[in-house]
Amino acid sequence: MLSLDEFAAGKLRSLASRDLLRTLRPSEREDGLAIVRDGRRLLSFCCNDYLNLSHHPAVKAAAQQAVERYGAGAGASRLVTGNHPLLERLEARLAALKGAEAACVFGSGYLANAGIIPTLVGETDLILVDELVHACIWSGAKLSAAVTVAFRHNDLDHLSDLLRSRRGKHARCLIATDGVFSMDGDLAPVHALAALAAEHDAWLLTDDAHGVGVVGGGRGSSFAGGRKADVPLQMGTLSKALGSYGGYLCASRPVIDLIKSRARTLVYSTGLPPASAAAALAVLDLIEADPDLAARPVRKARLFTRLMDLPPAESPIVPLIIGSAAAALEAAQALEAEGFLVTAIRPPTVAEGTSRLRLTFTAGHPDAEIERLAAVLRRQGLGRPEEGR
Ligand SMILES: *Cc1c(COP(=O)(O)O)cnc(C)c1O
Repeated sequence: MLSLDEFAAGKLRSLASRDLLRTLRPSEREDGLAIVRDGRRLLSFCCNDYLNLSHHPAVKAAAQQAVERYGAGAGASRLVTGNHPLLERLEARLAALKGAEAACVFGSGYLANAGIIPTLVGETDLILVDELVHACIWSGAKLSAAVTVAFRHNDLDHLSDLLRSRRGKHARCLIATDGVFSMDGDLAPVHALAALAAEHDAWLLTDDAHGVGVVGGGRGSSFAGGRKADVPLQMGTLSKALGSYGGYLCASRPVIDLIKSRARTLVYSTGLPPASAAAALAVLDLIEADPDLAARPVRKARLFTRLMDLPPAESPIVPLIIGSAAAALEAAQALEAEGFLVTAIRPPTVAEGTSRLRLTFTAGHPDAEIERLAAVLRRQGLGRPEEGR
């Protein structure tokens, strides 16, 4: 056996023995709610298509027309020939939505963070990250080679202590957080973070992958609570509530110009396919035409948390923390037997001992199905506060 194969097989054995092996299962998303797996139709409570717009007729038509006219792929990096005018139209719309001067669209949210962070900070700089930020912020931090220190989740006192003790030793400092935490569903205290950042001349980056389209009237976590928070780096994805694919940064004109000139994941990666931009533009039209749409996923999540006696949901994401990876897998399987699809989330996505069911609610989930889901979960003894968080 090649040492390479031996290495892979050994790793796989070790993962399997800890219930941490992951496998891909063919999943056909029919309409943003139903998923066909192994010939069975399941109701999904784990897609991030919060507004069910990936399958909206106007969105599909926009993508189809773009493919017909402009082809399936972008053909080159945006700095060569891949900068289709649709991308610039999309950037103007995103900047307006987020109340920013300018925007830059990337191939994905992951690529956005992996490109933005190393463009702004380097070896001699400091990054302070919430301990629960998404993997791609950690990747960006690693690529930047900046000194990276985690602060306790949403703990402003801890962040303030770190700023006081460490900020002075570095020329530049970036504070990075998720606006809506992907595995916990809670919001970052964005206003307070913005004030702390300003006080210490640190730059605040919020990752709004789960905020745009669903909180702050659809404008994201900077707008939650009415008054806009002063966040100079608003990053997000087109791939969740916006139903398409791609990532973005909204920021000032000079920052965006610098990103477009220097971010490696933009410069050295092929532009987003025009159809992805066309689909995202169609989604923005739909969100803007129906002011109530963006509020619906959180309303659905709150119906669920009420039925389960949980604290009211702040976002469309509700975690039910189970504990061991094996128990989380078992709980997901039991739900599948009832016709519900909820993927178990295990380490290293979440901390050891906090494996969970991560439920997501969308605008289109029928109340009756949410009630049935809650009844099934209660029967399984899951989700009551004393057994949950
Ligand atoms: C999904 C996600 C990303 C990555 O976005 P993609 O467009 O899927 O690459 C980034 N940050 C957070 C918080 C996410 O949940």
